[in-house]
Amino acid sequence: MKKLLITIDGPAGAGKTTVSRELAVRLGYTYIDTGALYRAVAHEAQAKGISANDGEGLEKLCNGLEMMFVRTEKGLRLICNQVDITDRIRTPEITMLASEVSARYVVRKYLLGLQRDMGKAKGAVFEGRDMGTVVFPEADVKFFLYASTKTRAQRRYNELPTTASSTLEEVEKDIKRRDNNDRTRDVAPLKPADDAIRIDSTDMPIQEVVDRMISHIQHCCTDLNNNYSQ
Ligand code: C5P
Repeated sequence: MKKLLITIDGPAGAGKTTVSRELAVRLGYTYIDTGALYRAVAHEAQAKGISANDGEGLEKLCNGLEMMFVRTEKGLRLICNQVDITDRIRTPEITMLASEVSARYVVRKYLLGLQRDMGKAKGAVFEGRDMGTVVFPEADVKFFLYASTKTRAQRRYNELPTTASSTLEEVEKDIKRRDNNDRTRDVAPLKPADDAIRIDSTDMPIQEVVDRMISHIQHCCTDLNNNYSQ
């Protein structure tokens, strides 16, 4: 069967990561977490003392970055300039900084090329905010996964380590701030592609979301294969 390129966009906490991973496993596809790439840029900027407002500094930084995902026995790891930074990019500070640097044109331009290169082989599930709208407008199947703000905040709160001191209210405030940054930025704002299949995960178990996606993909595949043979 033809290898497809599948995109899953949506706001933080909608369940994209779990769903994308599971979908990739079930299809035997590669999973690409593009948020990790924005987090990596934020991590490197923080390490070098470059602020999110410093466009020139960020451009120079991006030009010197070499990033790749590598499969190891510990799972998929993100290597940036030969260093495994997978575990370092999940702090609350990097989360907020990633949201800020992702609004910068120079950062998006750099990651656009990198993501398109990663998608060339197809047979991949790309998770992000602008996968179906900007990075892969020609993707074979596009999904937009969303959920109520309260549900998304509760999910993120439940995922916090027991040592974390944030309250549910603080988590919800952060999510709203990131949503606002993502939706109102000038470059590649978060929005569903016109041809995306929208799924509301508020009251839907993850397994059901994945099953629905699989059946949409099977349906699209028949159409794609028919077009192929004509
Ligand atoms: O998905 P995750 O929360 O790890 O993404 C980190 C940040 O990267 C998001 O807050 C968002 O601002 C940004 N991002 C983006 N475009 C993508 C993926 C992530 O702007 N395709």
